Amino acid sequence: MTGRPARVLMFRPHARFRAHTHTRPLFLCRECGAKWPCQPARLALLVAYRSNPAGLRDMLTNKLAMALSDQPRADPDDLTARFLGWLPDGR
Ligand SMILES: [Zn+2]
Repeated sequence: MTGRPARVLMFRPHARFRAHTHTRPLFLCRECGAKWPCQPARLALLVAYRSNPAGLRDMLTNKLAMALSDQPRADPDDLTARFLGWLPDGR
């Protein structure tokens, strides 16, 4: 990184379009450092899967399984809420 203050990055016009992907094993966002899926990742996923909400749930369920395997000491309920709890109730 450069010595620039972090907030400078926030005001770059293209910054909000950068992919918010996760690391392993902690599933932290590579872009913003928040727990994944962070808010920008959630928004991008909702847009990307807008015509396939079941596919989004399947993908996040697979990510949850990875996180549960990677973090055997984590609370499964917390991880489940983090990965799936934010999804709209798609009926
Ligand atoms: Zn992020």
